[in-house]
Amino acid sequence: MLVLDGKLAAAAVKENLKAETAELVKKGLPTPHLAAILVGNNGASETYVASKVKNCEETGFQSTLIRLAADTDEATLLQTIESLNQNPDIDGILVQLPLPKHISEEKVIKTIDPSKDVDGFHPSNIGKLVQGLPTFIPATPYGILLLLAHYQIATKGKHAVVIGRSNIVGRPMSILLSSNIPQGNCTVTLCHSHTPNLKEICLQADIIVAALGKPEFVTPDMVKDGAVVIDVGITRVDDATAKKGFRIKGDVLYDAVAPKCSAITPVPGGVGLMTIAGLLKNTLQAYQNNRG
Ligand code: NAD
Repeated sequence: MLVLDGKLAAAAVKENLKAETAELVKKGLPTPHLAAILVGNNGASETYVASKVKNCEETGFQSTLIRLAADTDEATLLQTIESLNQNPDIDGILVQLPLPKHISEEKVIKTIDPSKDVDGFHPSNIGKLVQGLPTFIPATPYGILLLLAHYQIATKGKHAVVIGRSNIVGRPMSILLSSNIPQGNCTVTLCHSHTPNLKEICLQADIIVAALGKPEFVTPDMVKDGAVVIDVGITRVDDATAKKGFRIKGDVLYDAVAPKCSAITPVPGGVGLMTIAGLLKNTLQAYQNNRG
């Protein structure tokens, strides 16, 4: 059983990005610049944004973190995005989700200039993804493709089962795995909360992508021998014995499922780190498209 190590694979992606950024510096050119907006102070979001900023620094990118109070009104957030859209020094914009309830995520996503939408959530970018046109691939599915590529996991002709149909993970993942791309060409079944017989469907899968946000949901009786299991789930589960008072759990019961797999991602240390690699690659792409 092969552990698909997100730390190793992300480091390889970042090394390449670092080399490309160093070339820009050598030529006296500006480096890619990511602007991240964080509204409020949700603990998990704070951690994700801090990690994105740190990874930008490590890669030689510029980053700007804009922090807005939890009670910031929607109009102020939209104006902030508009000013970043207009700023020629900013290549990529991300607004950390989830947003406070009084702000429409849909409006926020639509306000980001598609050419700076490095999370790949804008409807026009998703439309391009569906049609197989060049676009920003949403960071988590992109990270999974990069991980599959790093470990040369064969996907062509395989049956992939994606559990979860969110716009940011499950649905784009299902589209990509079915697309005619190197880490695609699968026959895909997209499962969700209304799917009956989930266990039977999973048992037919050569590749399972679990993205439903239910800790340890995927158990060994749902997994065929030799399957590849990609665990996207990240849930904080209270644990008084843990230093921080919680532990991060994936959507797969790792210790029991791993022995059945040909390859599996750990949580933490798997998809999460690759998501940042995907985001960085999109940011360089935005720079090349807009300023290259
Ligand atoms: P979401 O809550 O938007 O969507 C969950 C999906 O799972 C829904 O489509 C729902 O239909 C489906 N679902 C729920 N219960 C189900 C069940 N019992 N059987 C089958 N399907 C079911 O979630 P999301 O934003 O896609 O995130 C999913 C998980 O991935 C979360 O744990 C989240 O924290 C994590 N995540 C991780 C990364 C990363 O970088 N590793 C990035 C994004 C999200």
